[in-house]
Amino acid sequence: MRKKYVIANWKMNPIGSREAGDLFRKIKSKVQKFRNVKIIICPPAIYLKQLSSSYSGNKIFFGAQNSFWEDKGSFTGEISPLQIKDLNVDFVILGHSERRENGETDEIVNKKIKKALGAGLNVILCVGEKERDDDGSHLHFIENQIRACLSGVSKNNTSKLILAYEPIWAIGKSSEFSMKPSALHQTKLFILKILKDVLGADGMKIPVIYGGSSEPTNSGELIEEGEVDGLLVGHESLVPSDFIEIIKIVNSAK
Ligand code: PEP
Repeated sequence: MRKKYVIANWKMNPIGSREAGDLFRKIKSKVQKFRNVKIIICPPAIYLKQLSSSYSGNKIFFGAQNSFWEDKGSFTGEISPLQIKDLNVDFVILGHSERRENGETDEIVNKKIKKALGAGLNVILCVGEKERDDDGSHLHFIENQIRACLSGVSKNNTSKLILAYEPIWAIGKSSEFSMKPSALHQTKLFILKILKDVLGADGMKIPVIYGGSSEPTNSGELIEEGEVDGLLVGHESLVPSDFIEIIKIVNSAK
């Protein structure tokens, strides 16, 4: 059975390295037994070194929430993908809707993806529409995002990509506003078709995960009926008991 992903996006939380350490300790103490799941913690970059160097296990991986489109130079405040890799961090989230909201375009995400892959990072590419309508224009929106973000990305890199489908209208709410599993399943199939078209047959092997108000109450149906390869978890990844419950549910999903 292929491992599923549970990815924590801590966003700009918590305030303080002590709290970050506490949160991580609570998670790591409970996850060793889950064999079918790959856990990736994406804290603010400022905590990456502290957390990754405090962990010597093989269950948890780390990711950054962003990286720049150049390796080095005069780019004040930016973080190079090589600097992330240098911390023994293997993943980076790119194209998150909260960054797109602040001006990040598909073209920028595309440049960042190429540099991150070149640095040896695995990329968690986020796509997702602002709203849905009956005539299906959200599907064109998702398709355009995927095509633009992956334009010129070599087929040899498919094993280093994870596609996180995150409909913006479902982010940061509670499970009752999350996506319905049947709609998720249809969207996942649509995304795989586009990935195959863009990257060839191996594009179908890219894990497609879901993000948007995943909680213990809906994670089971999102995974089993939505048939996605994992979950990207925002606010619930800051609540250790809920996050561990989500991992447990994903771990035991068929
Ligand atoms: C996210 O923003 O990546 C996310 C999944 O957030 P939430 O789980 O809070 O909806």
